[in-house]
Order: sequence, then structure tokens, then C-alpha cells
Amino acid sequence: MNRTAYSPLIFELSKEGRKACQIPSPDVDDAFSSLPADLMRDSEPRLPQVDELTVTRHYTNVSTNNFGVDTGFYPLGSCTMKYNPKINEEIAASRVFGSLHPLQPAATVQGALKAYDTLQQMLCEIGGMSRFTLNPYAGAHGELTGLLVIRAYHESRGDVKRTKVIVPDSAHGTNPASAAVAGLKVVEVKSLPDGTVDVEALAPLLDDTVAAMMMTNPNTTGTFESSVSEIARMVHDCGGLMYYDGANLNPLLGVARPGDMGFDVMHINLHKTFSTPHGGGGPGSGPVGVRSGLEQFLPCPRVVKDAQGKYDVEWDAPESLGRVSCFLGNFSVELKALAYILSLGAEAIAMAGPLATLNANYVKHSLKDLYKVAIDRVCKHEFVFDGLIDKSTGVTTLDVAKRLLDYGFHAPTIYFPLLFHESLMIEPTETESIETLDNFIYAMREIAREAVETPDVVKLAPLFTPVGRPDDTKAALNPVTSFYDL
Ligand SMILES: *Cc1c(COP(=O)(O)O)cnc(C)c1O
Repeated sequence: MNRTAYSPLIFELSKEGRKACQIPSPDVDDAFSSLPADLMRDSEPRLPQVDELTVTRHYTNVSTNNFGVDTGFYPLGSCTMKYNPKINEEIAASRVFGSLHPLQPAATVQGALKAYDTLQQMLCEIGGMSRFTLNPYAGAHGELTGLLVIRAYHESRGDVKRTKVIVPDSAHGTNPASAAVAGLKVVEVKSLPDGTVDVEALAPLLDDTVAAMMMTNPNTTGTFESSVSEIARMVHDCGGLMYYDGANLNPLLGVARPGDMGFDVMHINLHKTFSTPHGGGGPGSGPVGVRSGLEQFLPCPRVVKDAQGKYDVEWDAPESLGRVSCFLGNFSVELKALAYILSLGAEAIAMAGPLATLNANYVKHSLKDLYKVAIDRVCKHEFVFDGLIDKSTGVTTLDVAKRLLDYGFHAPTIYFPLLFHESLMIEPTETESIETLDNFIYAMREIAREAVETPDVVKLAPLFTPVGRPDDTKAALNPVTSFYDL
């Protein structure tokens, strides 16, 4: 690896009086003199004083310290870091879409509303749902919106006892968090050793206080929940609804539909399954779909189409749970997802899941003599290792993950799911070639060898990245989040 050394902050490059441009004094009256004095700042803002070349070099160098799907393999389990086709970016950035204002009269943005509605219809088809809203900004936000729909449904029938949400112990942390934010109580259900929900442990939890059960399928161990239909029947029999966490929809894309498995409400992460970029906090999109009979509770605003085929925006509706976002969500992300679906088409989209599944099983099979397979059965799009098989070296999952950075790979997800002590969760996605997978397998095998022969190298990793291993404890106890705190 040939990485640059640690880059200074732009503030450290600042030299009193340096600037990138000379602005002539205005030849009109000072526009600021009419502003009230209490709105004016007392001192100059503390900005770095740098020339244009320094700024250019600084940001160009910093950009090469970043890791992204465009620079290397990124097998971050549960996050579906597939390639983001560039045509999506071009379409979303085009002037026709980029210059619209969300408060423009509907008559002047018929094309944009049609794109929005088309994506909604396609997600309905893919999810087996009756109607979608694209308003939520992320998966977790979709979960909250979906649970509020479920709450509104129970309340509309005067069934106010239903405050319990059942969540498997393999669930993503956002599931219990969203339930709590929605004002519901979380009850955990255990998994069996094969990673699937323990149906016998579920039965006694089901009563007339259950609002919903949340499930991810395939779950976070990459295992398909084969009892899902039975679970849906049990939950429905007690009057609860089924919520599908669609972050793991990728392996099912165009192959199987949550609506057909008995789910009533679901979200989709456009920034995972539908190839829009993510990481670093956004922007994302977490559309929520519902089966028929629940549409009226979805948030507003909504895009509606009249009998003449004209689109309009409905800002309010009697039974709607109200607003969850400004306007109609992250429109540019929605456009990228639509471009992805249209450019692949129905046939190619149905190949994503099988290829992602094949890639995951190939990597798992090629490493299972050195890394402990957490669940020994065919996985879907991802799988979990419970650390190295040889525990005598003292090399942990954290060490393996850090050492992978030296080999030029992004680390997998670690210490999640919580079902295993040394979880190392790998999701290759369908967009990686066999050569990339083989290089990754080689690196993982080398690390297993180093763990025995030179364990300190692995424990001190990363050795070749711009920043070494941070002191997690110190960072947690004494967080320094601004240059001026240094
Ligand atoms: C990513 C993920 C979420 C949350 O999605 P965000 O868009 O990050 O809020 C929920 N559940 C699972 C299984 C996930 O992988």
C-alpha cells in the first residue's frame, strides 16, 4: 500500500493574511450598515487564511485518504455496499431535476411527480405492497414511520391496549430504538442456534397487547427465516401486524416479496438495495410500503394522480399520521433508485439476489477452515464468522478488521449481530468480480497465518493507513470534536 502520510488540517495550514482572491471595495453604500447592531458579529469569523493552491492540494490530498466503493472492496455486512452506477448520478444531477423547487405548482412539475409516482409503483410491485411513501430519509426513519402507521391503525379501531413490539435478538439496533421512539414497548424473542426465530419462544409472548412483530428476512445472520409464514399467521391471529425491516431485501429482489410472506408494513433502504451511495451519514432514503387497508395512515405530503392522468400533491389527509419529513423526501436519492431499476429492468434485477448469494457462499466456503462459521448452512447475501478458529493467538475480530485495511480492503461489520462474541459479518454484494473476491480471500488467509506467526503485526494494525489505530477508550472518555478544543 502506498498511502500519503497524515494530512494536516486546513487550519494548520493557515498563514495570517493569505487569501485566494482580492475583492474590490464596493462602489455602493455598505449594505450591512442598515442591519440591527445586535445581529452583527463582534469579531471576524475564525476561518483558515489560505491561498487557492493550498486549498486545492489540501482537499485533493484529503480525498485520497478516504475509502469508498469506488476505491476498493467494501464488504460491510448488513450495509449492502454495492457499486453505485454513475448514470444514476448524472440523471439526479441533471438540470431538469436539479433546478426544481418543492413549492412549485404541481402543474409545472408533472415530470418530476411522474418519476416519483413511477418509483412508488415499482416498489409496490417489488415489495408486494399496495402503496408506498418515499418521504422518510433513512431505514431507521422508515421503521419509525411504519410503526406510527401501525399505531394509527390500532388506534383507529379503538384498540389502545396494543403497546408491545416483538423484536428478535438478532435484530439491528434501530428496531428496538424505533419502537421506543414510537412510544411502544420492546419485547425480545430469542433465536435458535441456527439463527432463526424460536417459534416456541414466540408463542407465549403473543396476546392482545401486541402491536407488531418486526422481522428482517433474511435476518442479520444471513439466514432465511423459513418459518416466516407460520410466524405471520400467529401474530395476525393475536391481532398484531407484521413489520418487515427491508435493509436485507437485496437477496430477495425480484425473487420473493415480503407482502407474499404475510408482512403488512415494510421499509426499503434505497441507499442499500437500490445502489444509491451511502456512508458518512447520508443522504439516504427509507420508503415505507403498506398492504391494502393501511394506505390512509401514510404520511403527507403525497403524490396523487387524477382520472385524467394529472399529478398533484396532497398536503393533508384526514387519517394521515401527518408529516415525517420536509416535502417528499430526498428527491435526488429517489431519482437515483429509479434510474437503477429502469436501467437494470425486471430480468437483470432478479439476478442481483442469486449473484449476491453465490458470492457470499463462495467467500464463506473459501475461508471456513480458518474462520469459525457461526451458522453452518447455506447463507443468503451475507454471513457471520465468529472470529478465527484458532483462539490461542489472542488475535480478535477487531484485529483482523484493522489488518484488512492494510491489505486495501474496507473492514467487514464487526461485533454485530450480538448473537456471537467475535462476529465478523461479511456481505460481498453481487457487483464484485471473482478476482476481487479471490484477493479478499487471500488477504483473510494471510491474516490468519500472521495471527499465528507474527501476532503483534495484526494486533498493532493498521500500519499503512494515514491514521493508525485510535484509542477508543480515550476517544469515548475525552471526545475532542473541534480543532479549537485541541
Ligand atoms: C442499515 C440497517 C437499518 C437502518 O437503516 P439506516 O438507513 O442506516 O437507518 C436497519 N436494519 C438493518 C438490518 C440494517 O442493515
